Amino acid sequence: MFPETDLFSKVGFSGCGRISPADIKFYDEIRKICVDNRCRKYGSNYACPPAVGSVEECRQRCNSYKYAVVFNKIYLLEDSFDIEGMTAGSADFRRLCYVLQDRLKELPRYRILANGGCTRCAKCGYPDGAPCAFPDTAFHSVEGYGIVVSELAALAGLKYINGENTMTYFGMLLHD
Ligand code: SF4
Repeated sequence: MFPETDLFSKVGFSGCGRISPADIKFYDEIRKICVDNRCRKYGSNYACPPAVGSVEECRQRCNSYKYAVVFNKIYLLEDSFDIEGMTAGSADFRRLCYVLQDRLKELPRYRILANGGCTRCAKCGYPDGAPCAFPDTAFHSVEGYGIVVSELAALAGLKYINGENTMTYFGMLLHD
């Protein structure tokens, strides 16, 4: 089935696993973390809550796709306080998601969920600007959907923690 799982390693991801969208669990409690706005993206991005809809709407959106692949990338840090390394890893993970997206043109319909809000435009149109510039292909936030990333990793047979001084980012491809 396209995409073959080896596409993810060719793109540069560390691992991946196929899951069924119906097996993903969604939690209103995780959405409350978004509302607390520790990441400062809440209410400022079409790819994050509340613009992505309620947790139930996110669940229904995920379940509207037939297939899902969870993928990750492990980044080495200098130490557990290496914020620069974490930021660079986060940006690189997003870059890899764009590389993946370029290889998905033959899919009839898909959605990539990635780490945090969308950073594609210099300034997101939400909440009071233009409509989303890329409504079908903007990367929505995994956590913003109410998904526990460690649970998602386990569902796909991937380790959430990958050793001392590492940071692992996760994304998910939903597709038909
Ligand atoms: S594509 Fe642009 S407008 Fe759409 S969510 Fe991303 S940053 Fe915002």
